Amino acid sequence: MLSNFLKKIQVIGIIFLLILVIDVSSIKGDNDNSIDVILDVSTSSQLNGGWVEERDGVTIIHLNGSHYQMGFQLGTLLKKDYLSSRRAWLSILPLTYDEMVDLWYNVSDLIPQQYKDEIQGRADALDLTFEETAIMDVIGIAFHGNLNCCGLAAWGPSTEDYKLYHFRSCDGLLDIIDPVTGKYASDDQLLIVRNPDEGYSSVVIGLSIEVGAEGGFNEHGIGIGYSSVKTSDVTSNGIPCGIRKRMLLEQASTLDQAVDIYSSSSTMGWNQIISDAKIPKAVVIEQSANYNRVCNWNDSFENNYPSWIMDHIIRRGNFFLDPVSAGFEEDIYEKSRFIRYILYCMGFDTEYYYFSRIMHYKVMSKAIEDKWGIEAFDGFAFTEGFSGGHECPEHNGMHFPNENAIMEIIPNKELEKEEKDPSYIPEAVLFSEAEKGMTGEMVITDFKEALPMIRYRVRDSIKIVTTGECSCGEE
Ligand SMILES: [Zn+2]
Repeated sequence: MLSNFLKKIQVIGIIFLLILVIDVSSIKGDNDNSIDVILDVSTSSQLNGGWVEERDGVTIIHLNGSHYQMGFQLGTLLKKDYLSSRRAWLSILPLTYDEMVDLWYNVSDLIPQQYKDEIQGRADALDLTFEETAIMDVIGIAFHGNLNCCGLAAWGPSTEDYKLYHFRSCDGLLDIIDPVTGKYASDDQLLIVRNPDEGYSSVVIGLSIEVGAEGGFNEHGIGIGYSSVKTSDVTSNGIPCGIRKRMLLEQASTLDQAVDIYSSSSTMGWNQIISDAKIPKAVVIEQSANYNRVCNWNDSFENNYPSWIMDHIIRRGNFFLDPVSAGFEEDIYEKSRFIRYILYCMGFDTEYYYFSRIMHYKVMSKAIEDKWGIEAFDGFAFTEGFSGGHECPEHNGMHFPNENAIMEIIPNKELEKEEKDPSYIPEAVLFSEAEKGMTGEMVITDFKEALPMIRYRVRDSIKIVTTGECSCGEE
């Protein structure tokens, strides 16, 4: 029962992008809605119109003006996050710094000037050189094929209200750490609202280090989201797809324009789901260096393994379906990934791990609750395999039922002793014996499956909200 419950939560979690697509009308910069301005930006004229806010744990940066100004605003307002994220990604790069600079100069002539201006703005604000900043805009090339994202768009008869819903799962790498601060690069996730002087406004969901590369949607209801495909048909002689996505969001007001802009250049294997909420309709562009195929939901090859045609639904994982593009694929990708995801949602595949970070984004849970008339619940899990905490209808913390694991807490005063003397072994207290209000570190003992964990320290800080029975009736 609990596992079904957790699955339900995760399924709820992944729908966030759709909700945003519906709300395209509200993205033009309106500081009136700003809840919590965390930086005073009045000190520099270059920062006019740029600000950062945080809503329910989601960082949202608003960029306004020329591309140089937008770059300068991001570099200034997110300097710490950007530099930390940059160090983290560079630490695992499969290429040397010089090779990355070469990559940039291979494609530099093709890149429209305004995006170079934006990079220059960021560099000036970050006290980095142009090259040191520009290499982050070609980082996608270095990691090509290693990101396991997937996406889907549904519209018309396939949705209850006939509106178009477009979602994308960004299955990025979660274990990349800034060697200086120990901060996870995956914590650098934010919403970026772009209001360029020349071009349409857009919201992109992404990372500070590669603005817009993750896709998003614009004020005309044009959305884009990608998954990568390992293919042998590759060139570095094209506009990086992250920059093409920015071009598309800034210039396209129709689906045809969006397809044209994206198809105007190519580099390596990507599936791009491109949608237009106005018509509504979505297509997939399967693209590699020398081949470009616009796919519709009812093309016969949508029935090719591992896919099958679904009425007015288009979706992709890390594979091509058109026989020509599929012919270029390297055979190390896993075709079953998307099917496994579907099985996971239906409760048949318990091994699949999927995008749970989004659950921290209360603002999205709230939007989903409002739009769908359903109630969202938090769940607790961590990468090593345990998932055993769940929120109840009281929404006052999480339950950790005894049948899942033996739960303990190391009280803060024990942690302090350990900090003073690293050889000290801190004492843990069973949840059932902990005092109400106690804060400390979570410890788990769990003999589940092939990875038993014995007094495993999760490094998560927790607080015992209450002991005994909750008013929902559960312990
Ligand atoms: Zn309860």
